[in-house]
Amino acid sequence: MDEINLLDAIKQLWLNRGLQVLTKGAGLREDLYEQLITFYELLEQAVETGDSAWLDPVLETWANSLTQTDLESPPGSLVEFINELQALFLRVCRETLDETQALSVIEQIAPWFNYCHQKASQFEIQSRINYVMTQMSQTQKALEKLDRTKSDFIAIASHELKTPLTLIEGYASMLTEKHTPKNTDTFDTVLLNGIQNGIQRLRNIIDDMVDVSLIDNNLLQLNIQPVWLNRSFKILVLELESALAARKLELEITAFPGSEMMIFADPERLLQAFRNILTNAIKYTPDGGKIRIDGRILSGFIETTVSDTGIGIALSDQLEIFDKFGRRGNSTLHSSSKINFKGGGAGLGLPIAKGIIEAHSGAIWAESSGYDETVCPGSVFHILLPIHLEPADKKMAQLFAPLTRKTAK
Ligand code: ADP
Repeated sequence: MDEINLLDAIKQLWLNRGLQVLTKGAGLREDLYEQLITFYELLEQAVETGDSAWLDPVLETWANSLTQTDLESPPGSLVEFINELQALFLRVCRETLDETQALSVIEQIAPWFNYCHQKASQFEIQSRINYVMTQMSQTQKALEKLDRTKSDFIAIASHELKTPLTLIEGYASMLTEKHTPKNTDTFDTVLLNGIQNGIQRLRNIIDDMVDVSLIDNNLLQLNIQPVWLNRSFKILVLELESALAARKLELEITAFPGSEMMIFADPERLLQAFRNILTNAIKYTPDGGKIRIDGRILSGFIETTVSDTGIGIALSDQLEIFDKFGRRGNSTLHSSSKINFKGGGAGLGLPIAKGIIEAHSGAIWAESSGYDETVCPGSVFHILLPIHLEPADKKMAQLFAPLTRKTAK
């Protein structure tokens, strides 16, 4: 009796036993009988023709039909299943055939089961990779949706808040006009000043929300004009002078190479970005500390650094602080003022600074050895801006031609 006849002889018993034993087969319960027949017949074909490729389709089908539970548990369920099929085969051979016949057929069939093991683990790994990739892409889509929802919320909320705020602003100024200048020191004036301050802070938050939603939707328009960084810093010094004095902070500005250069950028937006970074340096540096603006020229870029002697930023937070609402939970922030020590804001300052710098094709990142309110390791913010010596727009280039010629001399 040759091997094929022997295989035929034990086929039915193997199938019956298979059904009894393998009811816990990995995701294969329903049409197990049909699948076992297919496997056995393909095994016979492989033995007969000497071609292992016969077995591939059934192994692949099994790998593809692994359930979510199988794919989430440790690998090996398909290989285990093949092991059980092989063990069953050996048992049925021993029970049905005489010793010589059993040995001969087992010897013939062993390489094919080895092949099944190898191929099964290959297909199983592929199925797992596909599963993980699908999970990742679903998570990615969910995160993108969440981000869109956040961005839509910001856009709608800021728009809806603007109208009532303008009304409050109008009525508050009418009240202020009615009270001053006659009653300058009255309690009413104090109250009115409080209202005006509150309105101003609310307006700043709404403006920030509008900017974040413009940045999120790639709608930030730059008004490109000649910019000198040293002049922008001077404007900011004037603006922040009283805050620096109130907090006893020293601000040192180095006249670094590149700071006196005329480049083309949006002066207002750059001011806003640097203002946010400097305001943070003020907020997160204890009284008596030091803030320093320095920089250098790199190939094609001007790098500005804003360093402080403040509480520093944990390594794990140094990317996240640039995400909207990325204020860190490690410091006990309070929103009482824009310049008080740790007077936290809405967490929009850095995302806006990043959006503005990136809209200029620049880059911004933070560096700090860690967060420590006692040691105060400080932080350094690096801002890279491309050196554009001419505006991209032809008409603008014509308009500013005399200036560019002067700089080139
Ligand atoms: P916030 O309105 O909270 O200041 P920002 O977007 O401006 O929002 O900053 C995000 C977070 O980054 C802050 O809450 C703070 O934890 C951290 N941070 C920013 N600048 C500094 C700095 N110079 N030193 C220490 N931490 C900083």
